[in-house]
Amino acid sequence: MSAFRLHGDAERLIREHGAAAYPFECCGALIGTQTDGTTEISEARPLDNITDEGPRRRFRVGSNDYLAAERHAASAGADLVGFYHSHPDHPARPSQYDLDHAWPNLSYIILAVAGGSARELHSWRLREDRTAFEEETRDMTRVLIPTPLRAYTEKQAAVDAAGGTIGEVLADLTGRFGDLRQHLFTPEGRLRSFVNVYVNDEDIRYLQREATPLKSGDVVSIVPSVAGGSPAPSTVAAANDLSADEVKRYSRHLIMPEVGVDGQRRLKAASVLCIGAGGLGSPAALYLAAAGVGRLGIVDFDAVDFSNLHRQILHGTQDVGRPKLQSARDRLTSVNPEVHIDTYETTLTSKNALDLFRDYDIILDGTDNFPTRYLVNDACVLLKKPNAYGSIFRFEGQASVFAAPGGPCYRCLYPEPPPPGLVPSCAEGGVLGVLPGVIGTIQATEAIKLILGVGEPLIGRLLLYDAFTMRFRELKLRRDPACPVCGDNPTVKALIDYEQFCGVVPAAAPVPETTVEALKGRIDRGDRLFILDVREPSEFQICRIPGSTLIPLGELPRRLAELPSGADRPDIVVHCKMGGRSAKAVQQLVDAGFTRVENLKGGILEWIDKVDPSQSKY
Ligand SMILES: [Zn+2]
Ligand SMILES: [Zn+2]
Repeated sequence: MSAFRLHGDAERLIREHGAAAYPFECCGALIGTQTDGTTEISEARPLDNITDEGPRRRFRVGSNDYLAAERHAASAGADLVGFYHSHPDHPARPSQYDLDHAWPNLSYIILAVAGGSARELHSWRLREDRTAFEEETRDMTRVLIPTPLRAYTEKQAAVDAAGGTIGEVLADLTGRFGDLRQHLFTPEGRLRSFVNVYVNDEDIRYLQREATPLKSGDVVSIVPSVAGGSPAPSTVAAANDLSADEVKRYSRHLIMPEVGVDGQRRLKAASVLCIGAGGLGSPAALYLAAAGVGRLGIVDFDAVDFSNLHRQILHGTQDVGRPKLQSARDRLTSVNPEVHIDTYETTLTSKNALDLFRDYDIILDGTDNFPTRYLVNDACVLLKKPNAYGSIFRFEGQASVFAAPGGPCYRCLYPEPPPPGLVPSCAEGGVLGVLPGVIGTIQATEAIKLILGVGEPLIGRLLLYDAFTMRFRELKLRRDPACPVCGDNPTVKALIDYEQFCGVVPAAAPVPETTVEALKGRIDRGDRLFILDVREPSEFQICRIPGSTLIPLGELPRRLAELPSGADRPDIVVHCKMGGRSAKAVQQLVDAGFTRVENLKGGILEWIDKVDPSQSKY
């Protein structure tokens, strides 16, 4: 069975030629290459149809034109690999005439033209015994869709798209999934800077960008930013000798040649600052303490919540309500009392970051939001401190080492954050509890390798982990000479306002609001109301306001027609878990011309607190 891959320019030419020649048949040559049963068609070359048997039902190529097409192909370093022709007002299947006149080993593309407009296109190949044609399959490129964008591809994790270059494949993809377009491209049609596109493991920015050609078997990955080499020399000096207790505790390290007494003394002399004692910080800090890293700093300001316990394994049920720093200190000290622990009960800001980071050898980024992520990155670059990076979303994770000498930084990968609201946070999107265990442990591994100066650190590599398929993939990262912070001519030389940079400063115009008490009163009075729940289906399963209709926020723009309309339609009250997503929904509805729309303040959690305590909170 053979296959064909048709480049976009060639397909466009065939379609235009077929429509222009209507009601007659058009024909032309196909130029390209044949390898392993796949015909790659990079160019279509129109030829004169010299048939004298009635050009509505026949085509014939003159021998001079045939030879000229072959010479043209050879001059382009390619071959004549087949012919195309049109079937006016007939399906794109070969006729008896086609069978009688075709040669084996060539591709025959037939374009159906109905009433003057180009329709379906198929490619055929004559069997060796010349008894019949067999249809060729169209060779497509597999495009891997990351979780946050699957809402726009009907939940598909991979989509096959047609085309000969990245640009053509993305055009085919966004042509079929229209809602995806605005997430990948700016209104001017440029690829957005928080979206990276890879062919196999290579960033297209280092190939030919959107003109990058694709061959059979290439896999394209779209890698958006997510909130949620060679051995590097160790920068850490060795500490004094180990005590008898330490020799016992670390004996399995000491007998490894890659660690040994010298390595263990390096660990003891080293310091790591964990940003956050949450999902990523928990396993990272536990393993760093257990491994004997001499000084651990932890920055956090939260208290332990019941909903943290499914992944934040530093904290126990008895710690609920306590500051995370207190329970982290207790737990880490019980794991290894030799480790010195410094806690910083504060949010990380542009004012305190440099002072906090300065005293540490390595920073471990366990944050869950974009402003802090860019802040951690920039502070690490400015201070030349390696950043053991990790991020998680639902069941996918990323890890890398940024800001190491000569290596790329987070901004080389993602120069700008996505607009607020485009990428859901873990609080909105959820996260598989064990996922941060894997990614946080990888971050700790990288920190330990950097301290020891052994192995191949994740510098210049982005590791992608999919827990559902249990697959790791790896993409190449390069330092971008034009990077605003680590590039050759940096424009960011001091920390900036990251809330503003990420566009998460509070909206200027608040949306109209109502309270749970007012909503209860209106329901009890029998007012006609449309209660719109914009959470995800899995949240709707846990608890809901009676009579509400579920349309997840991401689906709202294309499902507006499901909302009541007309002058006498009921008022609309929108809610989510706590009121954040529903405020965005109200803004979208107001922008779309809806009036009498209100946001439910405090969301369903407040409804449960004040109106219906029989339901479960999450
Ligand atoms: Zn035909
Ligand atoms: Zn950079």
